[in-house]
Amino acid sequence: MTVDPQLLNAAAVDYVNDILQMEGVALQDIANAVGTPTYAYSAASLRSQYQLLYSALGALPHRLHYAVKANSTLAVLKLFADLGAGFDIVSGGELSRVLAIGGDPAHVVFSGVGKTVAEIDFALKTGIECFNVESASELARISQRAELLGKVAPIALRINPNVDPKTHPYISTGLKENKFGILQEAALPLYQQAAADPNLNVRGVACHIGSQIHDPEPLFDALEQLLALVDELSGHGISLTDIDLGGGFGVTYEAEPAFDIEAWGEQISKTLCDRGLHLSIEPGRFLTANAGVLLTRVEYLKPAVLESGSDETVDSKNFAVVDAAMNDLLRPSLYQSWHGILPATTKTHGDPLCWDIVGPICESGDWLAKDRMLSIQEGDLLAILSAGAYGSTLSSNYNTRNRAAEVLVSGDAYKVVRRRETLQDQLSTEIS
Ligand SMILES: *Cc1c(COP(=O)(O)O)cnc(C)c1O
Repeated sequence: MTVDPQLLNAAAVDYVNDILQMEGVALQDIANAVGTPTYAYSAASLRSQYQLLYSALGALPHRLHYAVKANSTLAVLKLFADLGAGFDIVSGGELSRVLAIGGDPAHVVFSGVGKTVAEIDFALKTGIECFNVESASELARISQRAELLGKVAPIALRINPNVDPKTHPYISTGLKENKFGILQEAALPLYQQAAADPNLNVRGVACHIGSQIHDPEPLFDALEQLLALVDELSGHGISLTDIDLGGGFGVTYEAEPAFDIEAWGEQISKTLCDRGLHLSIEPGRFLTANAGVLLTRVEYLKPAVLESGSDETVDSKNFAVVDAAMNDLLRPSLYQSWHGILPATTKTHGDPLCWDIVGPICESGDWLAKDRMLSIQEGDLLAILSAGAYGSTLSSNYNTRNRAAEVLVSGDAYKVVRRRETLQDQLSTEIS
């Protein structure tokens, strides 16, 4: 079977003597030992993506705040913390994860439109770096809670710069019609209010315009707007020290052009070099998406029905029913997103056919890939590529399915970093 080389370029896997490997480990060995479905992540790939992004910003004072929601598995967080990453969180639960791996709360920024009192109190007591505030009401609430707890809350306003990131509408966040951030026009009075508030320490300005962005222009536009605001505030005696440009750097799933990180970094460095601002970025997908695969086994083949005496199919398709489903990897169902599929071995049987790869869940939306040329048999192992971001974190127990195991591959070894969930785990929270 021939394999599209473009798929192998993007993903952290490769064939060695016909066997699909991640670093030095055959994926079939992981599946045989741990079962399926299982997520596997390459530590080398996670590290190299981090380093690529970090070094693109050169000598500019900067920190990467890894967006925990992309992949919140503790071993992944620990790997990034060891590289010097801070964290961008969107819930108290994510803060608990950062603390669980010994992450430094002084490098945690807290985004999200719906921070609860309990979450704000937790973050204030923990001593996080900054609240990225998304509304006037949230600002008032943070001030109240800080006063009550005898703390001073570090804040930035998340500005909605109203630029189009030219991405999928579900993952665009920086347009007026999106629920995120504060419109630029409303920012000045809020900053003035915050600067006069003894419970608040005004540190910076933040934005995050969307996800899976390939054209850097909207990111530059957003930066220009933020800098204009920084200047306007400075004219009013409010001087900011921090600027947070959010995440959203796009990755290659199918044939999308790679985001040119180096050119982006040069442009950002040029724009910010003499501004005296500390820069944060909040990458999620870029660091983890292509470092991960989801391993799944073919349970049943349901070939299209042939009209008797003819080669024509009767309006039906070839379905391969696998043991992973939309509860394990929701992206295809939620965003119609495309993931590469590779067989664990190219020593395969017969001519390729066009298959839809579907899960066992009772929903027609439960599909993982459509119209793929593959030669597969029941029992074969498949790797669903680019599954390291918004994969395990979007998983659920729908159909009372246990969540998948996860392994971290490093060199010739791998470690189970999340055991497969059990039915006992699931039932333990309930009574009848
Ligand atoms: C989701 C999110 C990110 C990360 O987005 P990616 O597209 O995964 O890089 C960064 N910042 C905020 C505020 C987010 O909500």
